[in-house]
Amino acid sequence: MLNTESNIKFIKGVGEKRAEMFYNLGIFDVDALIHFFPRKYEDWTNTKSVSQVNSGDNITIKATMITPVKEHMIRRGMTLYKCRFSDGESVINVTIFNNKYLAQSLRVYEDYVLFGKIEKTFTASSMSSPKIEKPDTGICIHPIYSASGKLTSNAIAKVIKTALDSLDEIPETLSDDIRKKYDLITLDEAIRLIHFPNCEMDTYNARKRLIFEELLTLQLGLLKLKSNKKSETTLRITEDYTDEFTALLPYRLTNAQKRAIAECVKDMQNKYPMSRLLQGDVGSGKTAVGAGIIYTVIKNGYQTALMAPTEILAIQHFEGLSKMLGSTGITIRLLTGSTKAKEKREIKADLYDGKIDLLIGTHAIIQNDVEFKNLGLVITDEQHRFGVKQRANLANKGHGIHTLVMSATPIPRTLGLILYGDLDISILDELPPGRQEIRTDVVDSRYNSRLYKFIRDAVDRGEQCYIICPMVEESDEAPCLKSAEQFAEELSQSAFEGYNLGLLHGKMKPKDKEKVMKAFSDGDVQILVATTVVEVGVDVPNATIMVIENAERFGLSQLHQLRGRIGRGNKKSFCVLVSDSKSENARNRLMIMKKYSDGFRIADEDLKARGPGDFFGERQHGLPTLKIADMLEDIEILHLAQDCAKDILDEDFNLDLPKNKHLCSSITKMFRDIEY
Ligand code: ADP
Ligand code: MG
Repeated sequence: MLNTESNIKFIKGVGEKRAEMFYNLGIFDVDALIHFFPRKYEDWTNTKSVSQVNSGDNITIKATMITPVKEHMIRRGMTLYKCRFSDGESVINVTIFNNKYLAQSLRVYEDYVLFGKIEKTFTASSMSSPKIEKPDTGICIHPIYSASGKLTSNAIAKVIKTALDSLDEIPETLSDDIRKKYDLITLDEAIRLIHFPNCEMDTYNARKRLIFEELLTLQLGLLKLKSNKKSETTLRITEDYTDEFTALLPYRLTNAQKRAIAECVKDMQNKYPMSRLLQGDVGSGKTAVGAGIIYTVIKNGYQTALMAPTEILAIQHFEGLSKMLGSTGITIRLLTGSTKAKEKREIKADLYDGKIDLLIGTHAIIQNDVEFKNLGLVITDEQHRFGVKQRANLANKGHGIHTLVMSATPIPRTLGLILYGDLDISILDELPPGRQEIRTDVVDSRYNSRLYKFIRDAVDRGEQCYIICPMVEESDEAPCLKSAEQFAEELSQSAFEGYNLGLLHGKMKPKDKEKVMKAFSDGDVQILVATTVVEVGVDVPNATIMVIENAERFGLSQLHQLRGRIGRGNKKSFCVLVSDSKSENARNRLMIMKKYSDGFRIADEDLKARGPGDFFGERQHGLPTLKIADMLEDIEILHLAQDCAKDILDEDFNLDLPKNKHLCSSITKMFRDIEY
C-alpha cells in the first residue's frame, strides 16, 4: 500500500527510468504526483453518430472496426495506417500517422471510441489521427496533463490513476467547520475528482476546494509574515507635529493627504513598528505625506531616510524637501552613487554622530556601512519592484524602525490584496485641487508635422514638452523603433531647429543626467527627448506636452506613469501617443489610455488585456508559485479565503490548535523556497 509520502518509484508500473522523468518535473513523492493537476480536460462522454454531426466538428463516436489495418509507407519516417470503422449506419475512413503501436493494437470487429475532428464529404466521412480507446476506458472525461519529453499526458494519467487506486483515504487538511462553512468537499474527494471527474460539476467542486485551500494557505502565510515583523519597538513617537508641518506648505493638504498622515502617525504611536504602503495615483501628492511624517519623526528626536529608485528622483526630492523644510533648521543631506568619496565620508560620520536628520538617496543609503545614530523611519518612494522579500529584509534591518513604502504603481486592487498582504495600506484617492484633465490622443506618424507645430506653439508660450522614445540608440534588430539619440539629433536639425533640446537616457553618466534634468526643470531645456528614465516621479509642473513614440511598445501602466509627468501645473496638458502599429489589439490598448485617466482603472484594463503575468512575472514580487489558483479568475474564492484566514488567526493566532496543524505545515511547505 502506498501513502502520500511514498517515493513514486514504488507505484506499480513505474520503474527507475520513468521515475527519473517525474523527478525531472520536480515530482518525487506520491503527494507531489497527485498535486500535479491536469491542464485541461477532454470530455468523451457525449457520443454521437456520424449522421448527427457536421463536417469539422470535434466529436466522440462509438464505432466498430470493420477492416483490418493497411500499412502505407509514404517515405522514410512517414507511415500511414488506414482502416475503416462503422457506427452502425455510416462508415468512417480512419488514417493514423506513424503510430505503429496504436495501429497494431486495433482488432477488427471490436468496438472502440474515436475522439477527434471529423471531415464529411458527400460520399464519405473520415477522421485523421483520432484518439482511439476501448469503450470501457474511453467514454469518460479525460484529464490532459502538460506532457514533458517522453512523458506523455496519457502516461502521466495512467501513473496517477494507479497511485490513486492504491492509496487509502488522503488525509484531510481543513477542519470540518471550515469545510461546512464554505461548502467544500474533502481533500480525498477533491484530489480524485480533479484527475478523474465524472461530470463538469465534479471539476468545479474539486477546483473550488483546492483553490480555496491554496489561497487560504497563501493568505495565512502572508498575514503571519506581517505579524512576525511586529516585534515591539522602542522608538516612540509621542508628539504629533503635523499642524506645524502644514503651516510650512504653500498649499493646503487634501483630505486624503491629511488622513494618510494621520494613519501613519497613529501607527508610529503604537508599540509596533509601522509597516505601511501609501498608494496614490501619479500626482496625488505622496511626497507631501512622506515629508509630513518625516517632520514629525525628526521633531521626536529621530533620524529619517528617504530612498528613491533613481538618482534623478533622489536629487529632486532633495531639492523639494530642502525648500519645504529648509527654514526649520532640519539638516538634510543627499547621498547617491556619484557623491564624492570625501563628502561620503563626511556624511557617514555626521550620520553616525546624529548630525543629519534626513538622509535622501538611492538604495545605497541603507547599505551596511551606512550607520545611523538613531534611525526611526525609512521611506521608499516609487518602489514598483519592491517585493515582499525585500520589504521583510528592510524591516529586519531596523531595530523596529518604522517603514513606509510609497507607490504610484496602480496595482489592481484585487492583486494588491495579495501583493501587499503583509502591509497596512493608506490610499490617496483624491488629486490636489486645480488639476486639469489631460487630453490624450492616439495618432500615427502622418500627423507629425501638425504635432511638431503644436509643440512649437506651446514652447513659444513658455511651456515645455517631453518626447519619449523606446530605445536609447539605433538598433539593427529593430530599425523601426525610434531611438532617443537619433531622434533628438534629427529633430534639432529639422522641426525644432533653434529650440533648446535636451537628451536624457539611462546610459548617461549620473552627473550628465542630473545636468540635463536640472536644465529642464529650470526651463532652459524646452523639449526633452528621453527614454523611460523619466517614468517615475519626476515633477516639472511647467511641462504640458507628453509625446510617446512607438507607444504600442509600452505597457498601459507604464504609459500612465509617463503621462503622469504632465498635468502637474494649472495649464491644460496634452498626451500624444504616436503609433504606426496596424495591430487592432495595440490600437485598442492605446484607446484605453484615451478613455481613462484613473490609474487603477487602467491597471485593471491592462490586466484584462494582458493577464497577470505582468504583475506576477517580471516584478519580483517574491510570492510562492501557485499550482491551481489564478489570482484573476479566482477572485471570488480569494475573498472567501481572505475572510477565512482572518477568522482562523483571530481564534488561533499561532495555529497551535490540533485542527490547524495541517494548515501550519502547508504554510511552511508553500513558503519553504522563499527566504525572508
Ligand atoms: P506623486 O504622488 O506623484 O509623487 P507629488 O508628490 O510629486 O505627486 O506631487 C505632485 C505635485 O502636486 C507637486 O508639484 C506638489 O507640489 C503638488 N501638490 C501636492 N500636494 C498638493 C496639495 N495638497 N495642493 C496643491 N498641490 C499639491
Ligand atoms: Mg512621487
